[in-house]
Amino acid sequence: MATDTLTGPAILGGTTKTRVCKNFIDGEWVESVSGNTFEDRNPADTREVVAIFQRSNKADVDAAVDAAKRAFAKWRLVPAPRRAEMVFRAAEILIERKEDHARDMTREMGKVLKETRGDVQEAIDAAYYNAGEGRRLFGPTVPSELPNKFAMAVRQPIGVCGMITPWNFPMAIPSWKLLPAIVCGNTCIIKPAQDTPLSTFNLVQALTDAGVPKGVINIVTGFGSEVGTPLTEHPTVRAISLTGSSAVGKIVGATAAQSFKHCSLELGGKNPMIVLDDANLELAIEGGLWGAFGTTGQRCTATSRIIVQKGVYREFIEHFVARAKKIKVGNGLDETVEMGPAVNENQLKTDLSYIEIAKTEGAKMVCGGNRLDKGEYQHGWFLEPTVFIDVDPKMRIAQEEVFGPVVSIIPCDDMANAIEIANNIEYGLSSAIYTKDVNKAFAAVRDLDAGITYINAPTIGAEVHLPFGGVKATGNGHREGGIGAIDFYTEWKAVYVDYSDKLQKAQIDRPE
Ligand code: NAD
Repeated sequence: MATDTLTGPAILGGTTKTRVCKNFIDGEWVESVSGNTFEDRNPADTREVVAIFQRSNKADVDAAVDAAKRAFAKWRLVPAPRRAEMVFRAAEILIERKEDHARDMTREMGKVLKETRGDVQEAIDAAYYNAGEGRRLFGPTVPSELPNKFAMAVRQPIGVCGMITPWNFPMAIPSWKLLPAIVCGNTCIIKPAQDTPLSTFNLVQALTDAGVPKGVINIVTGFGSEVGTPLTEHPTVRAISLTGSSAVGKIVGATAAQSFKHCSLELGGKNPMIVLDDANLELAIEGGLWGAFGTTGQRCTATSRIIVQKGVYREFIEHFVARAKKIKVGNGLDETVEMGPAVNENQLKTDLSYIEIAKTEGAKMVCGGNRLDKGEYQHGWFLEPTVFIDVDPKMRIAQEEVFGPVVSIIPCDDMANAIEIANNIEYGLSSAIYTKDVNKAFAAVRDLDAGITYINAPTIGAEVHLPFGGVKATGNGHREGGIGAIDFYTEWKAVYVDYSDKLQKAQIDRPE
């Protein structure tokens, strides 16, 4: 890897090397013009500095945009199937490096190894899918209204694209953006979240090793206001894709609109899982635990509201809480651990503050609620899995995104009441229903106001070849994954070829 190393702090009696990662601009590893850096620390043991990154600014963004603009002149002319072959090779490289990259990811953001392997796997899946798209990029060919005239539409790349990503899926989400963008012939600047740049470096390193030429992908690390803002404002950048909070989405959307950029916003969620009286309860309990506490609840699709019909409400709670109490919390590098830490101190404080808010509002806490900071936990940002019951759907704990291992259980009368509670919310990313009644399942597919609905599975677990995104405050109508990403990263050009050898006037030259 094209980074320097220096000796890092002694940890647990041993020594470790801390990587110093530079920006990746025009195929070169370069320091920020600011001369400043920041640390990426392990949230399970904050004594460990995983890597040091450049704290970049507008001048670094300008240099990366210039490089991407120069690279675009050549890259757009490389046939799409050839571009796609490089992405296919990157998938093969990632398979070889999967375990190392999963370990890096667990160290930089805390989720357990099984999940970080899944995150790398998602990038591999996205690479195979988008490699295939390089041989399609279909457009319509239609009959012309006029004789001796040919009509079709072709997809063209947009140009220089900016990507701003969050920390919770630090390789998967960059792959959803970078891979379709480059297969479509665009060039990119990516700004990873400041908590997790290393996983983006690992992905881009695989693409570079697979033959993606210099300047096609550039990485500029740093903070939202110092890198994300100039990237969003830059007039040469023609598309911005952000995955992050709805608050940041509003700012990025408004800024991008000033220069008429394509803008894709994938934002927050407050995802409901409905459990009806006829559900397979054991399955629903297992799904709810995975949906609520997987990735320490730090998924945009996390199950944060479980809406349970009255006939099974008490039984569901009894078993759900008993199981939640047994979840093993710890360092995600330990294969027996089921839930890692919060990503950083701020997120832990947010989690704890929502626990206090819920208690004040009158929700009943029946599990967890405490920071874990003794013994093996003393150097990390750990929290117990936390369950509130008898939650009123209007409470803040049932309306606002916590982004932590805190779940609200809400009683409901029937299916209609459950759907009403599920939909009465600002967000609309994922949703789920557990029932054995096929009529109710299909009615829920129709009526749940969300971009994703699962039947008899929790709210998490999207696959790369279907559209991913949500409605209302979760986004602005674009989708990642599948054909939605290809639509976002291309412009349509309609092409008419008149081979009549005379002037034909559409809509005017027509026989009466
Ligand atoms: P965040 O909004 O704080 O940050 C996201 C990215 O935006 C980071 O890279 C950050 O540096 C950057 N940023 C911050 N301010 C900016 C600004 N003014 N201009 C440009 N960029 C700026 O989110 P986060 O804490 O990294 O991630 C958690 C959030 O992401 C949650 O709300 C979660 O629901 C959401 N998320 C959504 C999806 C989805 O697909 N819908 C997926 C994962 C996460």
